[in-house]
Amino acid sequence: MAETVQYSLTGIYGGTFDPVHYGHLRVAEELTDILPLDHLSFLPAGRPRLRNAPFVSGEHRVALLREAVYNNPRFLVDDREIRRPGETYSVESLQEIRQEYKESVVLCFITGADAFLRLPHWHRWRELFGLCHFIIVNRPGSVQINNPSSLPDELQDICQSRWVTAAAELKNSPFGLIFTAPTTLLDISSTRIRNIIASGMSARYLLPESVLNHINEHGFYTGGK
Ligand code: ATP
Ligand code: MG
Repeated sequence: MAETVQYSLTGIYGGTFDPVHYGHLRVAEELTDILPLDHLSFLPAGRPRLRNAPFVSGEHRVALLREAVYNNPRFLVDDREIRRPGETYSVESLQEIRQEYKESVVLCFITGADAFLRLPHWHRWRELFGLCHFIIVNRPGSVQINNPSSLPDELQDICQSRWVTAAAELKNSPFGLIFTAPTTLLDISSTRIRNIIASGMSARYLLPESVLNHINEHGFYTGGK
């Protein structure tokens, strides 16, 4: 009798993390249980191509992430895009990461619904479906994605046959599936935190205390959003 492959899942959570906040962290924690994930790596972007330059350097955004995850053994920070010179492309990082893991490990790339809707603008985006699964998380203030019909045509065409409705199905395939995870909707964004700090108000309880302390010690985000 042919043996079925037993894949295990690892999460990759890309973003600018300028700064990391409880919206990111709570989603990451819930996904490690729901999917479930062995580990989850936060992958901060160096020089993102599709948005303005971050307010804080890559090195400091990594330091803030490390403050946020140090007491969670399932969370890691992958700083490869910060160390790489030039523009950052997720497809290149995922290719590298893919080679570093055993074949029995499946990569689950986590994106908020707002980020997933911009996927067709990403460099070599169709290749991503040959490297990882996509896990979409909804967030307040963005279009909610619950099935392929909530997507624009271009994405709908490629996503329709890849959609799965049970997390357990992610373990049956090495890449290319899409799952919308039912995580808690938290209306927290880095933009809002930067605005609050710039206006001299308190950002406490929107992000870990240790992260906020690091921000305050360096005077980050006081000059504008
Ligand atoms: P900014 O306001 O600077 O864009 P952000 O809060 O959106 O910051 P990013 O670093 O841009 O944070 O996001 C990284 C990833 O996390 C993206 O895929 C984004 O959609 C997702 N994300 C950010 N905040 C939340 C949240 N509150 N709930 C769910 N997903 C989120
Ligand atoms: Mg964002």
